[in-house]
Amino acid sequence: MLYNLIIEIKFMLKKLIAPLQKIILQKKYCPACTRSLTRAKIMAENDVEKLVACKCKRIFVHDLETDTFHRALLSDIRRIK
Ligand SMILES: [Zn+2]
Repeated sequence: MLYNLIIEIKFMLKKLIAPLQKIILQKKYCPACTRSLTRAKIMAENDVEKLVACKCKRIFVHDLETDTFHRALLSDIRRIK
C-alpha cells in the first residue's frame, strides 16, 4: 500500500518536472545542473548537429537548424560521431 503510494508520488513528480526541464533546455541550460549549454564541451559535430557534454557528464544534441538542445540518445551519439 505504502509502496504503491511512493510509486504514484514519483510518477506525479516526473510529470511535473518534465515540462520544467523542457523550458530549462529551451533556455539553453542543462536541466540537471543548470550550467549554460552554450559553453559545454563539444564532443563531435557535423553540418547540422553538435554533440555537447555538460560538466555533469550529461550529453546533449545541439540542433543547429532550429538552435535547440535535447538529451542525446544512443542513436544520436552513434550518428554524429
Ligand atoms: Zn549539466
